[in-house]
Amino acid sequence: MSEDLVTIKRFTYVNESHVYEAGLVSENIFYYLKDKEMVSMDAFASNAIGGIKLQVRSAEVKRALLIIDEIDKNIKENEPPSELTVDKSKYKLILYDCHKCDSSKVYINQLHWFVDLFSSFSKRNHYCASCGYKWKQLKS
Ligand SMILES: [Zn+2]
Repeated sequence: MSEDLVTIKRFTYVNESHVYEAGLVSENIFYYLKDKEMVSMDAFASNAIGGIKLQVRSAEVKRALLIIDEIDKNIKENEPPSELTVDKSKYKLILYDCHKCDSSKVYINQLHWFVDLFSSFSKRNHYCASCGYKWKQLKS
């Protein structure tokens, strides 16, 4: 390939790249997944060959990394927190009653739309503003 492609992220498994691909597509950034076919045929080969490489054109590395960072941040926030701090800008009120106090002031953490798209089946942080109860469940 004559294009100068730069590896900006590596994945061990094929499905890990989907959310990042969606992000790049949404910003019209050309990308290439090097060794994707190899890993999808033999998942055990992934470590040996250094995983699947997400590559973009060198001119678009900066823009692509901003998107990758944004997605990484959102994914991190969606992981089970040891201590949940509720940032109102990242949480939104949902129509749901608290398990503990029946208050309807229940918030769910907001994700970037394309992360949301791919994590609709994973559990989300819920928070009751009345009693402070925190729990995780599927988005209702
Ligand atoms: Zn409550």
